[in-house]
Order: sequence, then C-alpha cells, then structure tokens
Amino acid sequence: MAFSISENFHRIREKTAAAAKGRTVRIIAVSKTQPPENLEEAFSAGAETFGENRIQEAIPKIQTFSHLNAEWHFIGHLQTNKVRDAVRYFSFIQSVDSIRLMQIIEKEAEKAGKEMPVLLELNLAAEVTKHGMKPDQVGEALDLSLTLRRVKVRGLMVIPPFLEDPEAVRPYFRELREIRDRHSKDFPSLTELSMGMSHDYEVAVEEGAT
Ligand SMILES: *Cc1c(COP(=O)(O)O)cnc(C)c1O
Repeated sequence: MAFSISENFHRIREKTAAAAKGRTVRIIAVSKTQPPENLEEAFSAGAETFGENRIQEAIPKIQTFSHLNAEWHFIGHLQTNKVRDAVRYFSFIQSVDSIRLMQIIEKEAEKAGKEMPVLLELNLAAEVTKHGMKPDQVGEALDLSLTLRRVKVRGLMVIPPFLEDPEAVRPYFRELREIRDRHSKDFPSLTELSMGMSHDYEVAVEEGAT
C-alpha cells in the first residue's frame, strides 16, 4: 500500500528527530518533478522548505505558491546564464560547485541588492558524472568568500554515490562533517551540513546533517 505525502512527511520527521538526538534538523522537501497538488499537500503537512534543481521548472511553481510562507532552495547544477534568476527567486543556493560560480553569484546578488546564502557542494568520490568541488578547493573558496559582500557561505553539501546500503554511504557523510570541522575554526559561520536523501537520511542525520 502506498502512503500519502503527509503520512510520509510525518514519518520522516519522527525518524529525523530520533536520529538527531535533540538537535534541530531541517527537512528539505525535494519538489522537483512534482505537480502542484503534491507541493500543497506537503506544505499542509508541515514542509516549509522546498528544493528544486531546474530554474525553468521552478519559477512558475515559486510564483504559483508565492502566497505560502515557503522557502525555496536551489539544489541542482547552476548554469552561469541562470544565476540571475536563481538569485532573484531562491533564498538559498545549496549547490555552488565552482569558484567561478561563486563570483558570478556575487555579481548578480550585488545587482539585485540581495544577500545570497550558499553551500559549497563537494564531490567526495571524484565521480566524473557529478558536479562539485574537490575537498582541497574548499580553502580557496572560503578565502575568496572573505572578499565577497553578498555571498554568505553557510556550510557544505554533498550528494554521495548512490549505494543501496545506507551504511555504505556513512563514510561520505562523516567526511563532509570532518571537512567542515577542519575549516570551522577559521570560518565559524560554516554551520550547515546538507546531506542525506530518501533512502539514507537517518544515517546522514546521525553523522551531523543539519
Ligand atoms: C532529487 C534530489 C534529491 C531527492 O532525492 P530522493 O532520493 O528522492 O530523496 C535530493 N537531493 C538532491 C540534490 C536532488 O537533486
């Protein structure tokens, strides 16, 4: 039997709370490819933050639901010619995968007169099919962020290799947290760790997903 979106959301919230052991963890409802009815149901169930990975698909949804008090996070690979729209329509860009992209976001955020919170996306398994910085590029990106007025780096994001067994993914989540911990002495604003998907979010939360 299939569960409804609201039943799923409540179950995920309970399991997340159990894995978080007292920490507060924010659930991103990934709404890409989902029709409007499903977003409404998720919102009614308590989802407040939605993730989209394509600008063209996202803009009409964001406009349709502008009356809801929802937050929109961009979670896909952002092409440089779409940065202007991303900055205007989204409150968070979770998937900054290059230093060049950071610089373009800064330029567009400056034009829009807006602060742009972002996460640096890492490609920890060096998968050629995935976007993301290498761990040794994080220091350079963070140093650059000190010179930027509008881009605010709040943390790190990872999409690990897809492995059936969530335990097999645990080392990637742990590595992301360790990279964050190493840099957080110099960059205390690095508070967010965005990690975990439908099949492995409990492990991600145990490893410190925020
Ligand atoms: C599609 C997507 C998800 C959702 O994946 P599920 O397995 O359905 O949870 C999560 N994060 C990112 C970045 C995605 O693109």
